[in-house]
Amino acid sequence: MFSNDSRGGGRRAVPRVGAAVGALGLAACLAGCGAGSGHAAQARNGQGGQDGSVALAPTRETTSSAPRPPASPTPAAGRSAGALPLAGKVIVLDPGHNPTNFEHTAAINREVDVGNGRKECDTTGTETDAGYPEASYTLDVSHRVRGLLEARGAKVVLTQDGNRPWGPCVDERARIGNTAHADAALSIHADGAPAADYGFHVIAPKSMRSGGADTRAIAAPSYRLATTLRSHFAAATKEPYADYLGGGTGLMVRDDLGGLNMSTVPKVFIECGNMRNAHDAKALTDPAWRQKAARGIADGLTAFVTGSSR
Ligand code: ZN
Repeated sequence: MFSNDSRGGGRRAVPRVGAAVGALGLAACLAGCGAGSGHAAQARNGQGGQDGSVALAPTRETTSSAPRPPASPTPAAGRSAGALPLAGKVIVLDPGHNPTNFEHTAAINREVDVGNGRKECDTTGTETDAGYPEASYTLDVSHRVRGLLEARGAKVVLTQDGNRPWGPCVDERARIGNTAHADAALSIHADGAPAADYGFHVIAPKSMRSGGADTRAIAAPSYRLATTLRSHFAAATKEPYADYLGGGTGLMVRDDLGGLNMSTVPKVFIECGNMRNAHDAKALTDPAWRQKAARGIADGLTAFVTGSSR
């Protein structure tokens, strides 16, 4: 229901794909794409963010081989001195889903407290038409971002590193950022929207207090983090803002994501593209594009935590 009417300046035309795989994409998304709760589909139907925000962007990839990303041009040089821009900073990266969640459906279907309700512990995530899983994408990009941030002096904590059978649950993903006293936390996803939809977007938490959730203190800085990430990600990848939600702004504010609701540190989600869209899938499955994506993300996080957001 979200039209493209606000797509303006500078957004490139993206080849549209037929709707043949739309149903598939939606099903996959409902099974756990972005934010781990089918939020994209909800938003597309206008039922997503209770705040009136819109949902996610789709992308796809084809192979799960995710080469360990080159850290940075000069990692060694950077670690020695306090001159590193991110020295003393802690950044938590949350690779969405888990590559083997699908083998543990009972565990991930267990509901957990998300402040204003209860939701599934975690979801399986989506995949490209060719079978590249979202969980492989999120882990690969997280590794690339980690390398870049560590080279700039940051301490980087991953919520999962493919080293556990399932999860963590969304509330635990938030707690990991809280416990680390992260200067910024980012959950990395790719969407599973209908094939014709494309583009990326960033999701910030809505300011609210409900049950065990209280995002009032982090809503404003998280929004700044969202806009900063949006700028840097767009600049690095040339990926357009999602055309199917958020009014074409590339931004949403939501209160239905446990990973945001339960956070006490500035945190956002990024949906890097639509895995079910042919154009986005080509990008998401390309290691060179993923490195660009990682650089955009790392640059956005760096600008935010150093106070040099643009
Ligand atoms: Zn996801």
